[in-house]
Order: sequence, then structure tokens, then C-alpha cells
Amino acid sequence: MPDLPVLPVRELLDLDRRHVWHPYGPMPGRQEPLVVESASGVRLKLRTADGVDDGVEVVDGMSSWWSAIHGYNHPVLNDAARDQLGRMSHVMFGGLTHEPAVRLAKHLVDMSPQGLEHVFLADSGSVSVEVAVKMCLQYWRSLGRPRKQRLLTWRGGYHGDTWQPMSVCDPEGGMHELWQGVLPRQVFADPPPVEYEESYADRLRALIESHADELAAVIVEPVVQGAGGMRFHSPAYLRVLREACDAHGVLLVFDEIATGFGRTGALFAADHAGVTPDVMCVGKALTGGYMTMAATLCTSGVAEGISRGEVPVLAHGPTFMGNPLAAAVACASIELLLGQDWQTEVKRIETGLREGLAPAADLPGVRDVRVLGAIGVVQLDHAVDMAAATRAAVREGVWLRPFRDLVYTMPPYVTGDGDVARIAAAVCAAAREG
Ligand SMILES: *Cc1c(COP(=O)(O)O)cnc(C)c1O
Repeated sequence: MPDLPVLPVRELLDLDRRHVWHPYGPMPGRQEPLVVESASGVRLKLRTADGVDDGVEVVDGMSSWWSAIHGYNHPVLNDAARDQLGRMSHVMFGGLTHEPAVRLAKHLVDMSPQGLEHVFLADSGSVSVEVAVKMCLQYWRSLGRPRKQRLLTWRGGYHGDTWQPMSVCDPEGGMHELWQGVLPRQVFADPPPVEYEESYADRLRALIESHADELAAVIVEPVVQGAGGMRFHSPAYLRVLREACDAHGVLLVFDEIATGFGRTGALFAADHAGVTPDVMCVGKALTGGYMTMAATLCTSGVAEGISRGEVPVLAHGPTFMGNPLAAAVACASIELLLGQDWQTEVKRIETGLREGLAPAADLPGVRDVRVLGAIGVVQLDHAVDMAAATRAAVREGVWLRPFRDLVYTMPPYVTGDGDVARIAAAVCAAAREG
């Protein structure tokens, strides 16, 4: 058994408030976080007072931001980590290689849309997007078209918090509005409508055509826009993008960091449309939520273009690139996913969320209720009171993290029917009280 925690909860929270930045938070912190003691299956065990066994448990409705698809403390993933730990936690990737990274690359090539052949292992989703952008800009530079260095995306997106990704996040109302005018200026289309509309597709085509001379790539989150607003759109738009990009000599990047590994009901959201992008980013669920790792995949066309240039190398190489521990767990997570009937599990959760969230539609202050795959969203007509909504969810025994006007959930695929119902009830409670 692990030793007793050293810090009394009060002291821990006080130190946390004074010294530790939390995501999108002020310093010192204003809203007290919950203290997690441990996590197992779909439950987080909280420390509410001193000692170990006095904590309450909450069902995790967030999969730790899309990542913990198999739940916590999974024996298979634990074994993979332990086994790899006994060999090596890390070695540099320059001039060295190892089986976990090679096996992971092979898995990703085999499971991703046909045509993606090469894999750059990055250490976070945002970095994988930076790498994707660098690949695209360098591709055109290598082909003697250095003016093609802008990106086009649709509004409502989210691609991470480092510089290039921030520049393609929704410029209004999103997290990075502060930096308009400082960030590279990209080309924005209106947000994609939920259903397919030919007039929107036409505007998208026209925008790509008119900016083709300066566009390196179009980058979008396929089918589900995550942290930019939890909006869904018709997969048919992905085919429109593919055709327009091909017609006008623009690369196409899919950011599947949130949507990858089955979350939307297809292994990758691109599969809903049968489209292969030139570059694709994955992250979040890649290691089953165990460790940070992401990947940028590209076609041979992109790799060959880059290697034809004056500088034929991709000048990127994070210190912890290809981390063996993360790669070994990622392989185990992918094998675990593909070795089971994940489609049925995701469908089962989709059905449970549809039933459980239906009552939310009648609540005052609710604008929309939507479900796709193992994703459930209740959109309010006002900014959510995060503290009140979180309190309501925890009172129902569930961990949720609402933002903006959204209360949403994307549970681990192993969440049982009873717990899915409980999560849905908590989303309704949070929507009512937030
Ligand atoms: C989370 C996310 C990112 C950023 O990934 P990090 O690992 O947080 O850097 C990028 N794109 C999408 C679509 C995401 O959901």
C-alpha cells in the first residue's frame, strides 16, 4: 500500500492556491479545486479530510479531457507501464530508436485513414499541431512556393494553446481572443452548420479558391469541434474540403486530437466521410489517459515534398520525443481498444446519454441538447456558473467541468449503464443550477 499522504488537505490546498497554476486559471487561484487521492475504473476518489479512506468517490464524466477511454488504473495499461519501466523510461530519439515507438507508429499507420504513412511523435497535442503546421509550410517552401504560409479554418474551433494552434482557434469568445493582432493572421470561414448546406459548401470552396495563392493548408477538427464550443457538423463538409483543397493546391490537416480513437462512433472522425487528410494530429486518448503523447501523421506526398527542399529535413525534435514509457502504454491502449467491440460500447453510451439528457431540453435556460457517439452536450442560453454547476454535479456523485455556456460529458468507454445514467442526471442538475 502507498504511504499515507504527507500534506494535510487544508495545507495542500493552501499551497496549491499560492503556488500552482491550473489550466486557464488566475494566480493565486480563486476557485478551490477538489483533491484527488486516487482513481480506479471510472471513479475518482477525493480527499475531503485527512487520512486516506475518508474520501468520497465521483464518477468521472470527463475522461480527464477525452483521454482516459479505458478508465483509470487499468491492469493492462499498468502492466505495460510497469514492464516498460523495468526496461527504460526514456532514451533520446536522435540516433536511437526502440520497439515501443516503432510498434506505435505501425499501429497508427494501420488504423488511420488509408494513405497516412509517416508518424512524428510529439509530446502534446498543441506541439503536434505546431508540427503539422510546420510540415505544411515547409512542404510549400520546398516546392518553391514560400508565399503559401497562411492557414484557413472555420470559426468555432480549438487547436491548442501554443502559438500557431492559438492562431486557428476561434478568434471570438474563445480562450485566445486576447492575442488577436499578435498572432499570425489566418483566414476564417463561418462555423460549419450542423446539417449539410450547399450554400455553405459553396462559400467554403470560394474562400479556399480566392486565398489559394497564400494558403499552405486548411486545418479543421472533423465532425466535432471540441473546446471551441462542442459543436457537431455534417461529415459531408470534409469531402468538400478534400475536393477544394485538391482542386486549388492546398494541403488538408485534420486535428483528431479530441475525436480520435472511437469517441464519435468511428475510429477517427475522418472515417465518417471516408476522407484522408494530408496531415493528421492525434493525442488525448492516444495513451489511454496515462501520459502525455501526441502524434502528427502525414502522407508520402507531404514527406517527399519536404525532402525535395533545399533544407530536406523537418527541424523538430522534442527532448522527450518518442518517450518509450508513453509509447508502450499507447500501444497497449490501442491493442485494448481494437481487441474489443468498442463500437458497441460507444453506441451503448450514446443511447444512454440520449435517454438521460432528453429531460434537459425542457429545462429553463437550456438552448440545445446534442449527443454524438460517447459525447453529450447541454448548451445553455447563458454563461454557466462554473462553481454552482460543479457543486451540483459532485452532489450527484459525478465529476464534470463545464465551460462557457456548455455542460458536457465524454465518459470512459467502460462506463456501465448505471453510471452513464448517473452522469446524465448530473449534467441535467448542473444545467439546472449552473
Ligand atoms: C486538446 C486539444 C488540442 C491540444 O492538445 P494538448 O495536449 O492539450 O496540447 C488540440 N486540438 C484539439 C482538437 C484538442 O481537443
